Amino acid sequence: MKYALLDRGDRLSRALSEEFRALAALKGFTPNESDPDIVVSIGGDGTLLQAFHRFKYQLDQVAFIGVHTGHLGFYADWKKDELSELVDIMATSEPRKIQYPLLQVEITSSAGKSIHLALNEFSLKSVDGTLVAALHINDEPFETFRGDGIVISTPSGSTGYNKSLGGAVIHPSLEALQIAEMASINNRVYRTLGSSVILPKHHHCDIIPDQEVKLLIGIDHQVMRMTGVSSITCKVAESKITFARHRPFPFWNRVREAFIDAN
Ligand code: NAP
Repeated sequence: MKYALLDRGDRLSRALSEEFRALAALKGFTPNESDPDIVVSIGGDGTLLQAFHRFKYQLDQVAFIGVHTGHLGFYADWKKDELSELVDIMATSEPRKIQYPLLQVEITSSAGKSIHLALNEFSLKSVDGTLVAALHINDEPFETFRGDGIVISTPSGSTGYNKSLGGAVIHPSLEALQIAEMASINNRVYRTLGSSVILPKHHHCDIIPDQEVKLLIGIDHQVMRMTGVSSITCKVAESKITFARHRPFPFWNRVREAFIDAN
């Protein structure tokens, strides 16, 4: 088995990386940072986001495994004291391959078109204050948004930024995207729906900002500043991320343990 390893960079995660490498060598696994079968991320959900972006052009070939060094993660569900069990199970059994939907974001600007994949979400804010942008759903005008920003998340990202905005938590077996508002202005002049909207796979939405506005565009943990953006199209991506699941850990148990009951 060829594996790549990415850790958060703190002392504990680095030590666990070394431990994983030593255990993996005993089982005959080969480190391979460019063409792995398995990507192991040691840290937290944020580390797995980084691992995803490093290997997002090889999603057909790789499966991800996450180890958390702090609290339980949504993508990182092995504990720091379970490395030996993890390596044993990787050597002896075939995992279930679980796939989660991703978000495709196509940005059209004066510089051309760029296409991005997000595992958690896309976020849009204005650098200089209130964001004003038209939102179209399936090429029909839906609303004009005025407020702090818009977050469009994947089902697995629905427990991240989206949840802090009051969006719904969506099971990752549903191929959907969710549009959540950040502090929209709603009064007699300006009006948005006010609740989050969930679109199925065959729908898309376009955000049309004022081209002069300086935008802050977030794709998962990465943020970029852009001007001259004429439209942003979001839809459920054709590709998916694959996780190697060596033991069951139902999504709703993770939600309960992360947000309601840590015991
Ligand atoms: P960060 O600001 O260092 O950490 C954000 C927190 O979100 C971490 O505790 C991280 O877990 C957690 N997280 C990441 N993905 C999650 C998911 N799918 N479900 C539940 N929690 C999740 O940034 P980061 O570690 O680079 O992560 C970037 C993510 O932070 C973004 O994609 C966004 O979802 C989230 N975020 C949330 C808010 C908010 O809630 N107000 C604001 C900005 C960004 P770990 O500790 O396990 O890494």
